[in-house]
Amino acid sequence: MALVPLGGLAANFVVPSASGPSSSQGMQTLQPVLRGATAAHAEGSRGVFSVVGLAGTAVAVLAVGQRRRGSRRQVVAAAADSGLPVVDRATTKQWRRELVQSEQYFKFGRTQMEDAMNQLKKVSGSDILTKIRENGFRLTIGDITFVLAESYGFCWGVERAVAMAYEARNFFPDKNIWVTNEIIHNPSVNDNLDKMGMKFIQARADGSKDYSGVTKGDVVILPAFGASIDEMAFLKERQVQIVDTTCPWVSKVWGSVEKSKDKGHTAIIHGKYDHEETVATKSFAQKYLVVKNMAEAEYVAEYILGKGNKEEFIRKFSKAMHEGFDPDVDLDQVGVANQTTMLKGETELIGKLFERTMIKKYGPQEINNHFMSFNTICDATQERQDAMYKMFDAKYEAPKSVLYAELEGEQVGVSLLSTKQQEKLESRKMEAEMKGSAEMPIAANQKVDMCIVLGGFNSSNTTHLLEIAEEEGVPGYHIDCAERIGIPGGEATNRIQHKPLSTPPAKAMLDEGLEVKDGFLPDGPITIGITSGASTPDKMVGEALQRILVIRGLKA
Ligand code: SF4
Repeated sequence: MALVPLGGLAANFVVPSASGPSSSQGMQTLQPVLRGATAAHAEGSRGVFSVVGLAGTAVAVLAVGQRRRGSRRQVVAAAADSGLPVVDRATTKQWRRELVQSEQYFKFGRTQMEDAMNQLKKVSGSDILTKIRENGFRLTIGDITFVLAESYGFCWGVERAVAMAYEARNFFPDKNIWVTNEIIHNPSVNDNLDKMGMKFIQARADGSKDYSGVTKGDVVILPAFGASIDEMAFLKERQVQIVDTTCPWVSKVWGSVEKSKDKGHTAIIHGKYDHEETVATKSFAQKYLVVKNMAEAEYVAEYILGKGNKEEFIRKFSKAMHEGFDPDVDLDQVGVANQTTMLKGETELIGKLFERTMIKKYGPQEINNHFMSFNTICDATQERQDAMYKMFDAKYEAPKSVLYAELEGEQVGVSLLSTKQQEKLESRKMEAEMKGSAEMPIAANQKVDMCIVLGGFNSSNTTHLLEIAEEEGVPGYHIDCAERIGIPGGEATNRIQHKPLSTPPAKAMLDEGLEVKDGFLPDGPITIGITSGASTPDKMVGEALQRILVIRGLKA
């Protein structure tokens, strides 16, 4: 198997060979992805960049500000398919099982998957980040000290999805391969898939996807956050080959929703009703209600306890519940599931809140008939935020609920299913396997003067990381790629183009509403905190650090 790199700095790059699965032959050394000014101009969206020396390695300082992310993707002509078939919600489990067993569903062998992950590790990793990890998450070069968050970047599920997508290109070298919108929320990863000739199914303004270009025999890659059962049904009907990269922790949530359905429970999903992952999760439920935060959960709990107004309830959740939802009937039996990118502390408390609410309404002896506890929390998002707080010597404070505190007080001594059954994915352990084990810091955290946060502008987990920096009063810069540091057409310059929190993601994705800070790197010794969202390859973070060093005339 061979892979395409995730970034543009290393001298040697490899592209997938057409040699089929698990083949290590046919790897070709190419010019860096940022091939040079001519190529950049030819692409028409990247602007001008110059090349400056760094220890014999080409360092491209790319123009920023002109490009429109994703504009080079092969856009599918609009039209045709407006609707999807609807799978009977009572039969989703059976339906998916049959799909998984069919020839249309591509299965990766274990060895093939391990090879793909190992290859990806080689091309997406970063030497400088490995060095910082091995040095206890901090490293001083000249007068710059980098402090790396103890949890950052690609989570296991995302790494797996990207490896599978690349492997799909190897396995189907001659086929049209489509990625449903974005495989993960990272422009550089998606740009690389684009460079490998993959096409992207575009989202329409109403959120639906335009499948009009997909034809029989094509390959369609489902993203790490999954796809709805109706979307899968559509793809089955269209007779395409499905490569499903859904993270097992996301499909575990689907399994829990199925279980609650079997018992007649309504799935209360902690998430955003229009987030792709939640759209997929709710498609496996017969009855569902999506609550986005503690305040909404409390509102629903109050309603269950008889304090609400039905009309107001229906108006409030009109977009977040199944058709025909009746809060007087459908909140009688509930189970709490989650969108995996929500904060673990909040999901846990929401689960416990509904359990205590049901205990209050029906009594502890009846709890099994009215509440189901799910064990579906992935802590990768929380780990990244906790690491950020740790960097600033601060602490994450779990959300509070006045109603929960009251119920807890009333129910002293009543133990909860939610607490007993909560066994979580330990993302840190899996990431250590992926990124290499690290020397844990022994020194007290030193003051961080500024923070660089890398991740897609539409990645909510990355935005939360910047929010923490702002909360702690540390100047932070959110950039979506290393090329935001530097300046076009000249020497490496002390300049950064970044997305402020006030700019909406959709605008930033079009390179609008970004701010430029000249002289962002002050003179004299400085400590820079570094972190990245769960969809950001280490390679990109390493490139950003190299650019900072270049500005100072240093090298790693
Ligand atoms: S955040 Fe967790 S559930 Fe989501 S893709 Fe990563 S490992 Fe999977």
